[in-house]
Amino acid sequence: MSAHYLGVDLGSTTAKAVIVDQGAVIRAASTVQMGAVSRQGMQRAVDEALAEAGIQPGAITGTIATGYGRRLVPGAQRTFTEITCHARGTAAMCPGVRLVIDIGGQDSKAITVDEYGLVDEFAMNDRCASGTGRFYDVLARALECDIDDLGSLALRGTRDLEVSSMCATFAETEIISLLAQGWPTEDIAASVHRAIAGRTLALVAQVGRHAPVVLTGGVARNPAAVEFLSRALRMEVGVPEHPQITGAYGAALLAMESAAKEGPVSASADRDADTDVQLFPHTHDGHSCAGCDGTPGGGSAVDLGGAIEVRSSR
Ligand code: ADP
Repeated sequence: MSAHYLGVDLGSTTAKAVIVDQGAVIRAASTVQMGAVSRQGMQRAVDEALAEAGIQPGAITGTIATGYGRRLVPGAQRTFTEITCHARGTAAMCPGVRLVIDIGGQDSKAITVDEYGLVDEFAMNDRCASGTGRFYDVLARALECDIDDLGSLALRGTRDLEVSSMCATFAETEIISLLAQGWPTEDIAASVHRAIAGRTLALVAQVGRHAPVVLTGGVARNPAAVEFLSRALRMEVGVPEHPQITGAYGAALLAMESAAKEGPVSASADRDADTDVQLFPHTHDGHSCAGCDGTPGGGSAVDLGGAIEVRSSR
């Protein structure tokens, strides 16, 4: 019987599961939208992937979990941080990549990788909704637009309106105010995308503008996010065919590589100990708007400096 390896990425808004075979080929992948970090969402993602691969749970040789909820994944032998998994998965999908920008529902990360696809340095914003999927969700809601259609709407925009607040709470008020002034929704959408791309540029500045650059995470499914980021960086931004599953794919590849090195590991052998935690201490000290003075429309955009963490493996 051929071996199969499972990677599970339990994120803030979606659960992703990827199954690879011993040749690192993706046999199945699933993404399940959920309310918040959810065990049911995760189980559904795993069940869907197993069904697509046409295998029973017992046919899984190794499982690795990543994402916010990684410690909630039953049967995972190990957990790895999203940094390691996104870098690993993206490097496998886009060989030669040097800068991975991952924008998920609740955080954004800029990760530089070396020629072997290993993490060199990363910067992360996980304390402020600015520049994350949540900000795009707020925009879509305010414009009464489906998140799937937000990108095409923004790409039709031609005006550059001033969006001064990058705090999700106050930006919503500002967007509603722009709507009340009669500005077309496409111009508002374009302007907010431009402003968010500027935030991402600040994140990238922490690790340097390396090329080639690849955007991953759910936000990479938004063509306007890709376009405005590309303009802000003045670089072409690549997107993998399935950008939302790169973390789960990286986790599945790590499960495969761990088994090759050590043989199958029994479940819970290394639970609750992020394997890469020594390299990249992941110090979540809350999700407050550390870089936000709370002033709506207070002139220039809020400085995100205090909300960005930079870590180096060197
Ligand atoms: P997480 O891993 O934290 O759950 P994801 O990487 O799944 O996050 O990204 C979720 C975000 O992706 C959502 O907040 C949303 O803004 C964005 N997103 C999801 N699907 C789409 C889509 N079809 N088009 C545009 N944006 C999307």
